[in-house]
Amino acid sequence: MTVIICGAGIGGLCLGLSLQQLKIPFQIFEASGSIKPLGVGINLQPNAVRELYALGIKDGLSRIGIQTEEFGLFSKKGLEIWTEPRGLKAGYSVPQFSVHRGELQKLLYDTLIGRMKRNTVNLGMKATGYKNFKSSVQLQCINRNTNKLETFDGDALIACDGINSSIRKQLFPDEGEPLWNGAILWRGLALASPFRTDASMVMIGHDTQRFVSYPISKKNTDGNAKINWIAELKFNPEKPWSKSDWSKKVDKSKFLNSFLDWSFDWIDPLNLISETSSIYEYPMVDRDPLEKWTFERTTLLGDAAHPTYPVGSNGASQAIIDARKLAFHLQVTGTNEKALLNYEKEMLPLTTKITLANRDSGPDALLQVVEDRCAGSFNDVQEIISQNELEAHSQKYKSVAGLNIEKLNNSNSILSSFI
Ligand SMILES: Cc1cc2nc3c(=O)[nH]c(=O)nc-3n(C[C@H](O)[C@H](O)[C@H](O)COP(=O)(O)OP(=O)(O)OC[C@H]3O[C@@H](n4cnc5c(N)ncnc54)[C@H](O)[C@@H]3O)c2cc1C
Repeated sequence: MTVIICGAGIGGLCLGLSLQQLKIPFQIFEASGSIKPLGVGINLQPNAVRELYALGIKDGLSRIGIQTEEFGLFSKKGLEIWTEPRGLKAGYSVPQFSVHRGELQKLLYDTLIGRMKRNTVNLGMKATGYKNFKSSVQLQCINRNTNKLETFDGDALIACDGINSSIRKQLFPDEGEPLWNGAILWRGLALASPFRTDASMVMIGHDTQRFVSYPISKKNTDGNAKINWIAELKFNPEKPWSKSDWSKKVDKSKFLNSFLDWSFDWIDPLNLISETSSIYEYPMVDRDPLEKWTFERTTLLGDAAHPTYPVGSNGASQAIIDARKLAFHLQVTGTNEKALLNYEKEMLPLTTKITLANRDSGPDALLQVVEDRCAGSFNDVQEIISQNELEAHSQKYKSVAGLNIEKLNNSNSILSSFI
């Protein structure tokens, strides 16, 4: 019998590729009629990159992305508060990557289709619910071509259908919409000259106004690269907000005025925003951590299980780790409830900690500390905040997110004992 995967996003496709490596039969059902390169930039932490390498897409990743070399925090005046090396430069044995989310999804999809029969991934199949039986589980989908309900039986059902998961909705009917913290993110890509190391990820500002940016490609011959940016403003969270749709396009006039004086000698946020033609709006939403993901033969994975604020480069990375860990337990225990429970036991506590740490300002909590102490202006940052305090902030988040360098370098990829 088969593992049924609902959703062909980053998590669902990584699970499919992992099960293919383990020769465990599976079928994927995806609501979209085609895999288009949707989204803008995302970051992949070294622990997730190691798993993608183990899936055999090292060359593909190098083709579509760029190795991140540095992470930095800057005040709203563009002044340096904290910088640290990332990926190989930080001593990890595998790099951190910045990449276009949709191109990564397409790379995973094309790789999977190249290794399997095309009908392993069923596009245009929108899941509407499921039924658990004694010795099987059934996914129900609307076929978007025929508009008819179709059902598919398997040993286990894995909901990888994102933050608005239909399976999660059936499991938790009273949960309602994702929770908004009042911040709106506008995201875009501009062709411009990269800054600092040419592979730096920077966060500028403070809790109520922020600009995050990093290149997701190497420089062209003209010196420009694809620069991913996110402009963020905080509003009253009591106000109504638009539903969390990753593909909602808006005009820059909605927020540009707030960034008119954000132009520094090393990066020009105003210009990056002005040069961008397609801008996407997304509310900063997550959901409360669950106490349980597994119900008989059904479990949740990635954003369906633990949607978190997109602030710590964890969304895609954690979906990849979930997929590999679940594949591990399916291989060890078989395609049964026990395997799903073992996966949940390993991953739920860790992802809960990440979700809660991201609510607590994630890796950039220092920005507001500096804003509170000097409104972003200083001659020497050490007069505002001590080196010890700076280092303590940085370490705190890394230990929660499981990004310990030695631990990662001294361990192998999750499925290494089977492949
Ligand atoms: C279109 C899109 C654009 C995104 N852009 C960004 C971005 O720019 N920056 C960022 O940080 N994160 C972005 N994300 C979210 C990011 O991809 C995830 O946080 C992360 O990769 C975790 O992956 P996931 O597989 O759990 O969820 P997702 O990557 O969200 O994948 C979920 C998949 O399930 C499918 N699906 C949804 N409902 C159903 C259903 N009822 N039946 C079947 N299939 C269903 C979706 O079409 C999608 O392919 C985007 C997600 C999407 C879907």
